[in-house]
Amino acid sequence: MQDIIDKVSELSEQNLYSCYQCGKCSGGCPSVSEMDLLPNQVIRLLQLGMPDDASNANTMWICASCFTCTVRCPKGVDIAKVMEALRQISLRKNVDYVEVREISAKEISILPQIALVSNFRKQTA
Ligand code: SF4
Ligand code: SF4
Repeated sequence: MQDIIDKVSELSEQNLYSCYQCGKCSGGCPSVSEMDLLPNQVIRLLQLGMPDDASNANTMWICASCFTCTVRCPKGVDIAKVMEALRQISLRKNVDYVEVREISAKEISILPQIALVSNFRKQTA
């Protein structure tokens, strides 16, 4: 498990142990209502050596990479980069988070194209 945590630190270039769980990141995140775990909870699980629990949550996929958390963190932890690192580690296993064929024609017709393109870039290997 430690190797995954080291990989997250390496890819994100963040010291996960700087986080002292103040919750400011989650307090400003616009996507928390859709997340299984709050961003600060993901960091805490990584600190505790539980990367599978962090990765099994939908948090990293729901993250919109808006950087609000990054700006708000008093410890300078770039959480958006941590979320990106978690996504990269998962996608490198060649597992897609979204399945193109499961998106209905209706959804494709009403969703903004930029959202679809962004989604596939971010959530498919
Ligand atoms: S804002 Fe920073 S220090 Fe506070 S919980 Fe989030 S990551 Fe940790
Ligand atoms: S970058 Fe992601 S985790 Fe951070 S505030 Fe934005 S949506 Fe939330």
